[in-house]
Amino acid sequence: MDSLIQYSYVVAAALFIYGLKLLGSPATARRGNMISAVGMLLAVVAALLAQGIEYQWVALGILVGAVIGGAAARMVQMTAMPEMVALFNGFGGMASLLVGWAALVPGSATFTLVTIILSILIGGVTFTGSMIAYGKLSERIGSGAVLFSGQQIVNSLIVLGILAGAVMFCLQPDNHLWLYLVVVLSLVFGVMAVIPIGGADMPVVISLLNSYSGLAACAAGFAVNNNILIVAGALVGASGIILTQIMCKAMNRSLANVLFSGFGSGKVEQTAVEGEIKPINVEDAYYILEAASNVAIIPGYGMAVAQAQHVVKELAELLEKNGAEVNFGIHPVAGRMPGHMNVLLAEADVPYDQLLEMDDINPRMENVDVAIVIGANDVVNPAARENEGSPIYGMPVINVDKARTVFVLKRSMASGFAGIENPLFYKDNTRMLFGDAKESIGNLIREFSG
Ligand code: NDP
Repeated sequence: MDSLIQYSYVVAAALFIYGLKLLGSPATARRGNMISAVGMLLAVVAALLAQGIEYQWVALGILVGAVIGGAAARMVQMTAMPEMVALFNGFGGMASLLVGWAALVPGSATFTLVTIILSILIGGVTFTGSMIAYGKLSERIGSGAVLFSGQQIVNSLIVLGILAGAVMFCLQPDNHLWLYLVVVLSLVFGVMAVIPIGGADMPVVISLLNSYSGLAACAAGFAVNNNILIVAGALVGASGIILTQIMCKAMNRSLANVLFSGFGSGKVEQTAVEGEIKPINVEDAYYILEAASNVAIIPGYGMAVAQAQHVVKELAELLEKNGAEVNFGIHPVAGRMPGHMNVLLAEADVPYDQLLEMDDINPRMENVDVAIVIGANDVVNPAARENEGSPIYGMPVINVDKARTVFVLKRSMASGFAGIENPLFYKDNTRMLFGDAKESIGNLIREFSG
């Protein structure tokens, strides 16, 4: 029976890896998700074949977890998905903490003790860190960076306390005080690590915490001697850190800058903007679009808020019928989670070959007649290129201002997630089409349909 279980784990691990590979492209992502899910089912069934399991507790856990998870996933708004991911990461961390703790039996070998304390430490940090990230993203707590004098010293003391507690626990595993000390300090450290990070950086933090939750699961896998938990944890740990790296690169910042700079702490230096706002009405916008032969659509968080993806697709089809070439420019951190725009546009059945990444659309921008910015703000802010004093200076953006004409669809002059002014709105070639994105596009569609 044991070999059957181990063979199943190998197959499950192969399915995870193949599934991850397929997740790399929108065209195969669904299949990748399905294949990984089958791998997980196999892993769970194989794990349950082990001896000495009290099935009534497992059944109860599955039931409670499935009801809460199913209801939460159904009820959550698409725009609140990142918060939900933060919560799930946090619970993953807590699960690893509890599994590590439960693995402690009198007479455990030192290696086991080390893996137990690691799963408790990383799991604890992941849990409270994710709860703070959840609070900041959902704006249940202030999303600004919390900085105070002596913060570094307090954090260093906590880390020292954790290290001392961990070493003492491995030396004296029967004295549970050391264990409790590490549990409490890890939970406190999770809070302390995330409060100095501004809300704008939460996606990166969540991706990093996702990586931690994998490492915690990996450590728990060693603690309970379960191979598939080790493999799955390592995969989550590695893919989380790779995603974190991609996001940092998209914002032209180092991970250290994200974690320690207090970006978004309110000391934002606003760009001095020149020029004036030029609003445009739907009719005039229609005449310009009707004459355009090359159109780029740049969606952002506002498209998600307005749920405008279906009308956007309809407008793109009308423009194509009118003879224009239409492409979508997708910024890696547009929206509120990695891949946010891809998910929405896939839901509306926009063909994948029309979705261009930032590096592919930027060189074409000078040939674009009209760039339609739909609820995007920070990801098209030219201050990132032009103003060295701007907090987002150096972040790669989609250069819509290089197009002949830019339409910006938003409701007001309000700033985006980073809370900074956008000089794009004041440029000579920019026209503001104020209103809810779905409504404005609906009106444009009506003009096209006569
Ligand atoms: P922004 O948050 O910069 O701007 C969104 C704009 O959409 C707002 O200015 C808002 O203006 C407008 N908007 C909101 N609702 C509507 C509506 N119903 N109709 C029309 N417009 C609307 O979004 P971007 O996508 O440009 O940039 C993403 C930002 O979020 C970046 O700063 C990024 O770093 C950060 N971030 C990214 C994450 C990711 O992983 N993708 C995760 C978390 C943060 P108005 O109110 O005037 O309508």
